[in-house]
Amino acid sequence: MARAKGRVMRHVQFDKLKKVLCLGAHSDDIEIGCGGTMLKLVEDHPGLEVTWVVFSAEGVRQVEARASAEAFLKKAGKSQVVVKEFRGSFFPFQGEEIKGFFETLKPFEPDIVFTHYREDRHQDHRVLSDLTWNTFRSHVILEYEIPKYDGDYGSPNFFVPVSRAQLARKSKLLLTHFKSQSNKHWFTDELFMATPRIRGMECDSPTRYAEAFYSRKMLLQ
Ligand SMILES: [Zn+2]
Repeated sequence: MARAKGRVMRHVQFDKLKKVLCLGAHSDDIEIGCGGTMLKLVEDHPGLEVTWVVFSAEGVRQVEARASAEAFLKKAGKSQVVVKEFRGSFFPFQGEEIKGFFETLKPFEPDIVFTHYREDRHQDHRVLSDLTWNTFRSHVILEYEIPKYDGDYGSPNFFVPVSRAQLARKSKLLLTHFKSQSNKHWFTDELFMATPRIRGMECDSPTRYAEAFYSRKMLLQ
């Protein structure tokens, strides 16, 4: 069996969570995919350290991304928000530069990495998902879902129950901070609450709501 020398796949101890890395291609992806979960995690784990990276945001979207991330991370023990300007929709053609940036994230040593779903139909999302696995070989990675016109929702296998109040806050923060997206027909409170209600039903969440993720592998210890 080939095994990289010295590499041991990490297991996650949710009661001892210290560092979380959130990766999103565009300015509102992290919020939509795992915003409720992040609000819950920073509330449940005082002192949590979060690095939040948006790979593509320019102009007003950059300002929106920073303001939104800061609002979501208000209760974090420590946070770092990084907003890059890789060209949106062209990630597959900027692989070398994006991979180079991924390497700079390694020293953070996160307990959990939130990233895009591997089968997402948006090409930028897929590039980030692939580079996350390529870079964080032994870490716990959870892939979030983003609703879209292309219709790529699947059957996630990892659920985080989130309170209705936390999801309402997620929705409110999205609608408050991303004014540039308000002309999109799907960028509504109704949709931000609907998906977690379905995922909450699927996992019989005690709060009736949940955000869902794809876990490719996880270690039991
Ligand atoms: Zn996106």
